[in-house]
Amino acid sequence: MRNNQWTWTSERLLGALRPSAQILAQKASVICTIVTLACTVLLTTTAQGQDNGLKIYISSDMEGVVGAVSGDQLGPGSFEYERFREFMTAEVNAAIDAARAAGATEFVISDSHGNGQNLLIDKLPDDVTVVRSWPRELAMMAGIDETFDGVIFLGYHASTANMRGVRAHTMSSASITGLRLNGIEMTEGSMAAAAAGHYGVPVIMVSGDDVAVAENQVLIGDIEGAVVKWSKGFHSAETLTPEAGYEVIRTRTKSAIDRIDEFKPYVLDTPIELELSLKHYRPVELLGYLPNVERVNSHTIRFVGEDIIEVSNFLTFVTNFRIDLEP
Ligand SMILES: [Zn+2]
Repeated sequence: MRNNQWTWTSERLLGALRPSAQILAQKASVICTIVTLACTVLLTTTAQGQDNGLKIYISSDMEGVVGAVSGDQLGPGSFEYERFREFMTAEVNAAIDAARAAGATEFVISDSHGNGQNLLIDKLPDDVTVVRSWPRELAMMAGIDETFDGVIFLGYHASTANMRGVRAHTMSSASITGLRLNGIEMTEGSMAAAAAGHYGVPVIMVSGDDVAVAENQVLIGDIEGAVVKWSKGFHSAETLTPEAGYEVIRTRTKSAIDRIDEFKPYVLDTPIELELSLKHYRPVELLGYLPNVERVNSHTIRFVGEDIIEVSNFLTFVTNFRIDLEP
């Protein structure tokens, strides 16, 4: 009886337990599913945060574009300009494609050559924006801020102090013969790097001729370099063909994104002393009338800016102002 009673009781108990065990099992299963889903979402989000979601600023000049060697490729009306607008745009697309494949998701493109209206904007992807025309604050870096993860220079060239680069100049080949910040002879690239550095953003890659790439690497640091042609003089080069050039840009862009954490922002000590040497006497004499400008010699002025933004704004004024500007 006792045994029977026990059997009966245990059977009742087991019977009573069975449905709740099933419910428990079901609940456990639901909880596991939710936890798994939550973990998957968390892991995906974390992975995106680490490897994807990079925001890249691309500043695109033209003298360093594959094949470009003279004025015949570089401005409206010259016989190869329209074709080279296509090559310039294709270089930007090559960098975007490679950066995207390596984890970049956001792009701002700066049209940084000549009239600032060279890129064929309908040939660029729908999810990028393009900075066009002048004047604009921070010039070749307009729109840069601390939200970017890296900067890529395409089609860049050597400085006016360089004897070897194709179309080597700084801001204006017609007017500027020297541009030093804190005593360092600058390239357009190193000035642009300083603008990015102001916001803590590193430059990660530069493309152009071999001289331009080397000069910018010496000034800015160990950034990736995409050499698309080899300088033979101010108006000559041995160049890759366009498709081969795009491939070099894709390869170097991928390397740059892959090691993006290694690059350091290029930061100049402040205040920044600008020494600007101009080809002609009169603009130097006239700039000397400004109370915050010192005329150092017949061809050179000195200006001290609180930071790179103030220096850049001063240079934008100097290189754009004419009293007969219209409208
Ligand atoms: Zn330039």
